[in-house]
Amino acid sequence: MRLILLGPPGAGKGTQAAFLVDNYKIKQLSTGDMLRAAVAAESEVGLKVKGVLERGELVSDELIVSLIADRIEQDDCANGFILDGFPRTIAQADALGELLNSKSMGLDAVVQLAVDEGKLLERIEKRARESAEVRSDDNAEALKKRLAVYREQTAPLIEYYGERGMLKTVDGMQAVDKVASDIEAILKAV
Ligand code: AMP
Repeated sequence: MRLILLGPPGAGKGTQAAFLVDNYKIKQLSTGDMLRAAVAAESEVGLKVKGVLERGELVSDELIVSLIADRIEQDDCANGFILDGFPRTIAQADALGELLNSKSMGLDAVVQLAVDEGKLLERIEKRARESAEVRSDDNAEALKKRLAVYREQTAPLIEYYGERGMLKTVDGMQAVDKVASDIEAILKAV
């Protein structure tokens, strides 16, 4: 099973990915987590991207594509993976398509978590208050920036995957369990 979870920050991608990891024994590949780990380790990549993350901007397509290319080759991805936070631009989606083609791998689905923007802002402001110490980019300002970046650079992927007949949409404003069961129903059908 290989899929993409698509949705703005605060839509619940991480929460849903965790369920899928348990149910399907596949790996969650969160590019945000990978980058935060690099920042915490103060690696070369980490030092390069620290400021970008803090500002809520996107790191370069090249860097992120090479991270993913290395990662999906590893043994723990043999059963499949959930891409959480990647792709985030059309260029990344094109690169992913080429990468998977070159390995004769397909994507089973692109699942969009559709959310109400106004409510989302409330949700992410709440998260900002609760997790200011956990994530330095979870302050209200950076979150708003991330939402704007999502709208501009990532939302076009909805049309991109829609045109390719791969997009499945779930109402992400429902209770967490209902979102999870809707996703499961979609995955059973693919
Ligand atoms: P996330 O945890 O997915 O919200 O990602 C946190 C931050 O990591 C983002 O605000 C970006 O700065 C960076 N990031 C994560 N994934 C990507 C990606 N696919 N392309 C560019 N930047 C990314």
